[in-house]
This record gives sequence, C-alpha cells and structure tokens, in this order.
Amino acid sequence: MIGDIIEIRAGILRTMTTPKKRRSWAEPFKIKMVEPVFMTTREQRQKAIEEAGFNTFLLRSEDVYIDLLTDSGTSAMSDRQWAGILLGDEAYAGSRNFYNLEEAIQKYYGYKYVVPTHQGRGAEHIISRIMIKDGDYIPGNMYFTTTKLHQELAGGRFVDVIIDEAHDPDNWHPFKGNIDLDKLEALIKKVGAEKIPYVAMATAVNMAGGQPISLENLKATRELTQKYGIPIIHDMTRVAENAYMIQQNEDGYHDKSVEEIVREICDLTDGATMSAKKDPMVNIGGFLALNDEKLFDEARNMVVIYEGLHTYGGMAGRDMEALAIGIAESVQSDHIRARVGQVHYLGRRLTEDGVPVVQPIGTHGVFLNAKRFLPHLSQDKFPAQTLASEIYIDSGVRSMERGVVSAGRDAETGDHHYPELELVRLTIPRRVYTMAHMHVVEESVQAVYENRDKIKGLEMIYEPKHLRFFQARFRKLS
Ligand SMILES: *Cc1c(COP(=O)(O)O)cnc(C)c1O
Repeated sequence: MIGDIIEIRAGILRTMTTPKKRRSWAEPFKIKMVEPVFMTTREQRQKAIEEAGFNTFLLRSEDVYIDLLTDSGTSAMSDRQWAGILLGDEAYAGSRNFYNLEEAIQKYYGYKYVVPTHQGRGAEHIISRIMIKDGDYIPGNMYFTTTKLHQELAGGRFVDVIIDEAHDPDNWHPFKGNIDLDKLEALIKKVGAEKIPYVAMATAVNMAGGQPISLENLKATRELTQKYGIPIIHDMTRVAENAYMIQQNEDGYHDKSVEEIVREICDLTDGATMSAKKDPMVNIGGFLALNDEKLFDEARNMVVIYEGLHTYGGMAGRDMEALAIGIAESVQSDHIRARVGQVHYLGRRLTEDGVPVVQPIGTHGVFLNAKRFLPHLSQDKFPAQTLASEIYIDSGVRSMERGVVSAGRDAETGDHHYPELELVRLTIPRRVYTMAHMHVVEESVQAVYENRDKIKGLEMIYEPKHLRFFQARFRKLS
C-alpha cells in the first residue's frame, strides 16, 4: 500500500516536472494585444479591501492586479476566435455560425444533436426539466452548485457517489473524480433504476478541486449503468483538461492524443451539458448535446421557451463562431499541456515552499488548505476568507473563499455549516497570465505564510440570506 502511494506520488511529480519528449510547457502563443492592469500600493489595497468588507467578490476589478477569482469567461480568445467574431451571421434563424458550431461539436465530441444555450446552466435547466420527474434521484461525482439546483428545481434529489478520497485534501489518488461503483449500485438497488433518470458524470470535477475521472472508471460506470438501462449525462465543462490528465497518468493512454481521449470519454456517455466559458475559451456561451433523437426533439422545443430559437439559444451568431473555433483549440495538445502545465507549475512551487495545498494539484486552479495554513484560527474566524483578503492586501492577487462562508448555515439549527474543506482557490484563466505572474502569486502566498502567526481572523458584520459568500461583509479581529 505504501509502495502504491509512493508510485502514485512519483506519477504525479512526473507529470508536473518532465513532460514527455518536451523541455517545458511554455506557452504555444505570442502576445499580440495587451490589456494594461494597474499596480496599487499596499495602502490603496488596504483601503479597497476594507471598503469591500474583506470580501474579494466586492472588490472592483480595477483594484485587482492578478485576478484569480475564476476561470469562467475570463480566458483570452485567440486571433482566430476574434476573426470569427467578425464573421457573425446574425440572422434570427439558421445562422451559418450555428452549423459551424454543430459541426465542431460532432467532430470533436461526437454527439449527434446540439442545442445552444446562453451558458452552462441554461443547458442544465433544459436537461433537468426533460429528464427528471418528481421524486427521482440523480447520482453524481460530487455536486456542482447550479447543476444540483436545477436537478432539485425539477423535483429530483442529488446523491453524491464520488469516491471517499475526493473529500480528503491530502490524499494523492490520481483520479479523485472517480465514481464509487459500490455507492452507485447500492443506490440503484435501494431506490430502483426507474427512479434514476441518469447519472450526472462530470469530468475534471470542479468542487473536488479540478480532479479527473479515469477512463477505466468511466468504462466500468458505463457497464454498470447499461446493465440497469440508465443513461450517463456528461458535465463536459473541462473535458479537455480531464483528457490531458488521463494521457499523463492512466496506463494505456500515454500515446493517445488529447483529442482522441476527449472523443473516447464522450462516446461512453449519452449526452452532455457544456459551459463554454471554461474549456473552449469564450466569454459567454454553452450548449446541450444529445444522441437520442426523441430527447433532442423535446430539448429543442424547450429551448425556444427559455433561451431562444434552436439555432441560437441565447447566443449571438458571432459568439457561436468563436465557440466553434475555441472547441478545436481546446483539444490541441500544445495548448492543453501549457494550460494544465501552468496550473501545476504554480502548484508544485507552492508545494515545494511548504505551503499547504490540496493534492494532487487540480487542472484549473491551486487550492490552499486554510485549516493548515492558519491552524490557530477556528472556523468561526473564517480562515479561508481571512487568507484570501491577506493575499489581496499583500499583492493585489484576487482569490476566492471555498469554506465555511460558502457553505452557509443549517436551515434548521441556524448554525454555520463547518465543511471538511476550508480552502482558498487560486483559479487560473486560460492564456491570460505569464510565468512571471505565477511567480508574483507564489511570492505573495509565501510572504503571507511567513507572517501567518500575526493573522487574527475576521468577524462577520453583514450576512445576506442566500449564497452569502457573494455579498457578506467582515471586520478584522484585533
Ligand atoms: C461553470 C460550471 C457550470 C455552470 O456553467 P455556467 O456557464 O456558469 O452557467 C456547470 N458545471 C461546472 C462543472 C462548471 O464549472
């Protein structure tokens, strides 16, 4: 067992340090246009975070130097994508850009039918409404906020069937996004297959810290669900990032291209929802993809009500064109290697500095373990919220709390939820920041770490009723 762990560790480190046959993950692009950002002084940042109630969501983006709040819609489009914007065919019906998008989805993902939506949650809404009945159960490899909400609004109940390792920030399992087949089969036996409209399978599981699922696990899941006649709906928001991790760490896939692996993943599923603001690098957009003609017909009917006609679904023609091009770029091996390589580079450096980070490093961000970073602060003093504001004050780097503030309160007792994971997320947008920026982030986290004993924590002085992490305000404890 110990041997296994060392081997797994070695496997991860190999991914991070010695990319196959290549010297480095260096960016496969050069910079043609820049967006100036402004450096601020420590005094300015101190004032800005106080005005923002020590909540990074309430900062103005002008006051931020390096913005690692999210990778959603914040990536840099290529010159080709921008050229695609000028080719927008803004016809109300039958835009040529829709057909280009449909063709890209069929080619790279292999799904037959496409319904465009304004973003990922639009697709989640439609699939939930057409597949879930009152009283149904939807097993998934960890929840995502909007996905779970739409399942519940449609009358369903989400059941977490991810492996236990996913909940442990120090466990080095290389595929923490895997589905626990025993948990899944136990649920099927308990509630009956007819109460399970589909399994919600996410690639590069966001809430677990960007952790991949293996193809071995997906194949086994497919076998099990087929036995019971249950389809798999794929949250494919970060499928290319997951495919890259399979190529690096799963036996039998080292010589396959990311493009081939993406296709193999999709072929094991029956449909997918996509937030195109992530992998395919557009600022807004998404889609629902399906293989079943009858379901597609229902989805196409419903998109007209909530999003727009079935050949634009809430997107402008130009946005569909940029998305079609972004899909092709997202699976290019040089691109994905540099994208994940940059995240792992920052993660490896912080690990080597002795900073407590969630292991293995995920594909879209580095997650600081605030419980171990600030062990002298109880969760009542909001360690992750405190840490995010201290990093901002130190350098102007904006991160996000994922801990007790995000978890909210128990509806019955009114007490805080005290989640296992008390994290600060440093999320890296695609193609936006350079290695020098990563060094600034590293130095800043290190500087805060060296002075961690002096950090006193926060108290909450304003708490909104719903999703409090967006708007809550805090005061520094003295
Ligand atoms: C962002 C995201 C969504 C929701 O997509 P939006 O485009 O923000 O509506 C769904 N699932 C995952 C895994 C995501 O990261």
